[in-house]
Amino acid sequence: MAASRDYDHNNTNGYSSSSSNEDEYAGYPFDFLETDFQCIICTMVIRGFTELPCGHAGCKFCIEKWEKQKVACCECQESYDKTKKQESRYNDRKIKHERQARCKQHEQGCTWQGSIADYKDQHRKRCGFRNVRCRLCNQKVAHQEKEGHKLTCTHRLVNCTTCGAQYSFINKKKHEDEECKLPCDYYQYGCHEKVYKPHMERHLANLARRHIELVKSHYDRIVTELVSEKDKKITELNTTVNLQSEHIAELTTQLEVNKIPMATSSSSPTVKPAVKT
Ligand SMILES: [Zn+2]
Ligand SMILES: [Zn+2]
Ligand SMILES: [Zn+2]
Ligand SMILES: [Zn+2]
Ligand SMILES: [Zn+2]
Ligand SMILES: [Zn+2]
Repeated sequence: MAASRDYDHNNTNGYSSSSSNEDEYAGYPFDFLETDFQCIICTMVIRGFTELPCGHAGCKFCIEKWEKQKVACCECQESYDKTKKQESRYNDRKIKHERQARCKQHEQGCTWQGSIADYKDQHRKRCGFRNVRCRLCNQKVAHQEKEGHKLTCTHRLVNCTTCGAQYSFINKKKHEDEECKLPCDYYQYGCHEKVYKPHMERHLANLARRHIELVKSHYDRIVTELVSEKDKKITELNTTVNLQSEHIAELTTQLEVNKIPMATSSSSPTVKPAVKT
């Protein structure tokens, strides 16, 4: 195989899914199953078949670029007249439509084979091994591994189990050391400070007195509330008892006015004592 000549072309080696370089200039970055139609300059499959008078051939773009340095075949060194080289639509057609190529991602495991034209029309956008870029970490990932990558991506977003904040996984340590703050253990009693986790012990030690005061006033308030609740209840009960007493007094008065005898033991039927003989 001829070595690639002294200028850089864009042989993307099958890793490009978005680059347009491959579409324009030097050879097609495909592996043909047969090793023919290889450009003498870029060593890839010839794009724009151009034959030199010596019989060697290359890409139209590669040869024209080479001619700026030297109008001689880079393979056999034979000089030639620029007007004598020939393009071939016949060979272009064979290259694009007839020769069988492997998928550009065959090294990653894709077994698809077909013509370059079929690759572009049918396979390029469907190949499970094509690379896509992870928007979070900017790494290239095979399309079919995208879902798995989301779970292991170093830049995935995670929620802190301590403070609930969201951070990029790669910043876990920074978050824990510099950002993660916890509410004070005495939050419910009124200490509304947020404290870095490693500083919590110190906070609790330094503010012990204030925390005790907060707890005390919290319970004082509860006791006061309970007492006033109890007083209210007692007043309510007293009112009820008074109302009931008034009612009873009223009923008693009515009984006396109407001379209705009170149900006493004297009103029960009397049993005459048996006469003793
Ligand atoms: Zn070429
Ligand atoms: Zn030659
Ligand atoms: Zn493929
Ligand atoms: Zn990623
Ligand atoms: Zn946190
Ligand atoms: Zn506190």
